Amino acid sequence: MNVFPVPGLPEVEPGDDLAALVEAQVDLEPGDVVVVASTVVSKAEGRTADLSSFPPSPRAEEIASRLADVSGEEKDPRFAQAVLEESTELIMEAPFLLTATRFGHVGVNAGIDRSNTGDADILLLPERPSESAERIRDRLSVDVPVVVTDTSGRPFRHGQRGVAIGWAGMPASRDWRGEADRDGHELEVTVESVVDELAAAANLVTGEGDDGLPVVVVRDWTFGNHEGSDELYRSVDGDFVRQALRGWEFEGH
Ligand code: GDP
Ligand code: MN
Ligand code: MN
Repeated sequence: MNVFPVPGLPEVEPGDDLAALVEAQVDLEPGDVVVVASTVVSKAEGRTADLSSFPPSPRAEEIASRLADVSGEEKDPRFAQAVLEESTELIMEAPFLLTATRFGHVGVNAGIDRSNTGDADILLLPERPSESAERIRDRLSVDVPVVVTDTSGRPFRHGQRGVAIGWAGMPASRDWRGEADRDGHELEVTVESVVDELAAAANLVTGEGDDGLPVVVVRDWTFGNHEGSDELYRSVDGDFVRQALRGWEFEGH
């Protein structure tokens, strides 16, 4: 497996054709996977915003003031408003905002970025990242899968890593159930989230700062002969951690 960045990409602007920008720099081959950081998908889709477009509701004021209390730092209620507007559920409101986005991803601050946003205050995630991936894929001259990523934190572990938030042209997971291990035992539960693994590998190459490498090509990797599944986001009914968090209340450190 070879994972390499697409060099020489410009600052991405609203309306840019990411597929064309990528193909101007690299000759894609069948079997490649194109992995794109959501930050540039959002920029191309005009998902930048200024905080002035989010006049805070009383609820956002309340959330921001609570966050300020627990963190000892000032919190902008307009940012809290933006997070609320981007979310279908507020799962935790202190000591940080953990929310579910429209498309199913659960993350801090609805994945809204305040770095690498160009001239805007904030950058919202793409509205439907799998549809974004499909649109990019449609415009490529080679038939290859496209994965859209974001950098995301993880419960139970320090640090962030790349995760897939959208994908097209390949299943999200390899379903190993029914296959055998080395001892001939049948695997009963393993569904491997390959789009997340590709996203994590790509994120190693893109970095988080000023590298200017938002797109990565994965070459010489194959999905292999496995069943596939497109389930990545747990439904609320089957997500017991999410259900437990709904009943949990932050009470200080
Ligand atoms: P996120 O993980 O999708 O939120 O994106 P990051 O802010 O971590 O950026 C990922 C990579 O894309 C980093 O290498 C950034 O320097 C790069 N990047 C962000 N925006 C642009 C852009 O408009 N043009 C280029 N060429 N690189 C960008
Ligand atoms: Mn991000
Ligand atoms: Mn990142």
